[in-house]
Amino acid sequence: PASTPPADAAQASPSPLETPRREVVFSGMQPSGGFHIGNYLGAVRDWVALQDQHRCFYCVVDLHALTQPYEPAAMRARVLDMAVELLACGIDPQKSTLFVQSQVPEHAELSWILSTVAPYGELSRMTQFKEKGERAEYVNCGLFTYPVLMAADILLYKATRVPVGEDQIQHLELTREIVRRWNGRYGEPALFAEPLPLHRSPLRIMGLDGKQKMSKSLGNYVAISDEPDAIRKKIGSAFTDELRLRKKDPGHPESCYVCGLEQYFMPSDKVAELQDGCRTARIGCVDSKRALAEAMITTLQPIAERKRQLLAQPGLVEDILQAGADEARKIAKQTMAEVRERLGLLPLR
Ligand code: ADP
Repeated sequence: PASTPPADAAQASPSPLETPRREVVFSGMQPSGGFHIGNYLGAVRDWVALQDQHRCFYCVVDLHALTQPYEPAAMRARVLDMAVELLACGIDPQKSTLFVQSQVPEHAELSWILSTVAPYGELSRMTQFKEKGERAEYVNCGLFTYPVLMAADILLYKATRVPVGEDQIQHLELTREIVRRWNGRYGEPALFAEPLPLHRSPLRIMGLDGKQKMSKSLGNYVAISDEPDAIRKKIGSAFTDELRLRKKDPGHPESCYVCGLEQYFMPSDKVAELQDGCRTARIGCVDSKRALAEAMITTLQPIAERKRQLLAQPGLVEDILQAGADEARKIAKQTMAEVRERLGLLPLR
């Protein structure tokens, strides 16, 4: 079982992605098809880095995705696309457990059980519920109990650290509240520890319009699987420095979308050289865009190559996911046996 972090560890504000010891990490991502560079830089890169230090469980959370309107005929492909891209980006099934939520039915089972200790009032105050609820044509209960399923995801593996973006902090706080209530009712000795956030670098990659966050739904993205020509075209039409009207005007790299992305795809001396050229009007926006597009293509090329290799082996990804689910399920079943015992339910034989 996972070790229990001290209750006041949250106040000690762990440094981003670094804790001195090996922890159990859980993170999930909804199957939204392929990744864009915002997902890659803001989340997937961290997942890859964490697997060398911690015991990581990475989950494609398809049950969570059911809370939004979707096309059933497209779901399998969405799940598989995401798994392929995670593997291509460097998630290594030898190092971490990569699996699909619905292939470990204990997630739904524990979610129900936790819903019996989850406070209704707090659930109804969740910002994401309120926002999604306002936009939805009708509000399904899954949207409301979404954070309870997330608590189950984490607690099934007794994860102690959860890499979270800003928008998920409130949900993780609720998981901690559910743990306190569970332990108050069924504890001694505590079965679950309160999971702590593993803060990500607060990256927010803006979309090609330079105005809104890069997002699938806004269509303002570069996908990691875009062909080189598509990348050239997209970066070619990206927003640059509004104050620079002619090539001979000095540029302002600090407020230019294209210059802002350079740091993620080029070594720092190259970035400094390009930005100096921009500031002194030695190079124009078109040159900056070309340099960025080529650097992006070079960075993404090995990922595209690994993806091709994975897809060339029919059934390989499905097998990796099945093995991941088997591994996850062993632990999930063990946790559920403990949960059943605490609840006074009959054991499964
Ligand atoms: P999308 O907004 O494209 O639907 P998701 O909400 O599914 O993406 O996000 C998946 C992960 O990628 C989350 O961890 C989220 O924090 C991260 N992410 C999404 N968009 C960005 C972005 N523009 N910049 C940085 N990280 C992002």
